[in-house]
Amino acid sequence: MSTGKAAERDSQWVWNRNLYMARFLVFHLICLAAIWTGVTLEALAICGILYAVRMFAVTAGYHRYFSHRTYKMNRVMQFLMAALAETSAQKGVLWWASHHRHHHKHSDDPEDVHSPVQKGFWYSHVGWLFDPDWADTDDKRVKDLARYPELVWLDRWHILPPTILGVGIWWFFGWAGLIVGFFWSTVLCWHGTFTINSLSHVIGSKRYETGDESRNNWLLALITFGEGWHNNHHHYQASANQGFYWWEYDISYYVLKAMSWVGLVKDLRNPPEHVIADQRHPAAQEDTDSGTDSASDEASSGDAAGWSAGAVSETVQEIGLSATQASEQASRRVSEIKLAATERYDDLSEKASQHYADFSQAATRRVEDIRESARSAHEQAGEQVERIVDSLQNDPKPATD
Ligand SMILES: [Zn+2]
Ligand SMILES: [Zn+2]
Repeated sequence: MSTGKAAERDSQWVWNRNLYMARFLVFHLICLAAIWTGVTLEALAICGILYAVRMFAVTAGYHRYFSHRTYKMNRVMQFLMAALAETSAQKGVLWWASHHRHHHKHSDDPEDVHSPVQKGFWYSHVGWLFDPDWADTDDKRVKDLARYPELVWLDRWHILPPTILGVGIWWFFGWAGLIVGFFWSTVLCWHGTFTINSLSHVIGSKRYETGDESRNNWLLALITFGEGWHNNHHHYQASANQGFYWWEYDISYYVLKAMSWVGLVKDLRNPPEHVIADQRHPAAQEDTDSGTDSASDEASSGDAAGWSAGAVSETVQEIGLSATQASEQASRRVSEIKLAATERYDDLSEKASQHYADFSQAATRRVEDIRESARSAHEQAGEQVERIVDSLQNDPKPATD
């Protein structure tokens, strides 16, 4: 039973949620207004462009930069990227990153924000957006982003960028532009993004044993500009590219690469060779539900020879299996630690430079003190000498000049 403040908060929350759900629904219904505005070629082109630009901003900005820090940008670019990503109407930058980081920490366990394995397709696709548990941003998870007041401001006013974009599109391109160009692309971009939370933890192949149900899916990778290589991403989150091989198209990464050539972004991080090579099913990647493991693949390669003695073979398989599991666990830990280390590194380097600044200031002051005392010592010595000279000149005979 909730009473007093809690009840008040709950009723406030129910109101907010209903409002949010209504807005979500209205966005979908408004798309039907195309019946009256018509679907012009110009409006379709705007729809395509807005989908592409905003999907890029969500994957390259919200996901690969703000959630995982897989490359660097200067502060102005960082602000512009956050504002652009917010035009997708997926709430604020801090909210997005904090929930996504939570997802990786609890991927497919009961605490996961949006696990289809735990709570089914609809909850992981949209239901979690209306769940009071996920309404607020966990500030502790996004300390590195909250250091920038302009990002905090953007996060608070996340409603502004999509509103400005919508009004601008209507102003320049009229009603068809607004309905087909803006609303259609917003809704498409939503569901495109949401497939990564729902479908890419269900449909596709598992190249790496990541301890969750993340999958690689070529169709989702196409829709989401590379995010569909989601098993790769859960295997190694610190990488700016999610397609690990040349045939794993990753449009967001290609754009980032091009941006790095002209200096808009820098230090794109890529997975090390051994991380890419660390595959569970080298020979049978697509065979995700065969019920066998790499150990049995290995065992079968030397089969007929003499391992027919069941017991021995089973033991070997077991050893192989636990070795594989151990190494997978280890590599998963390592990539988690690496991610944490990068975040720590940013903090530490800032602290270090602060210390250095303090130290060098103190050192300068010290040097000035020393110089000052040297100067006065020098002056005193000069005066002494003068006095001695004077007394020498005065005593024996009168001054000569
Ligand atoms: Zn991620
Ligand atoms: Zn995931």
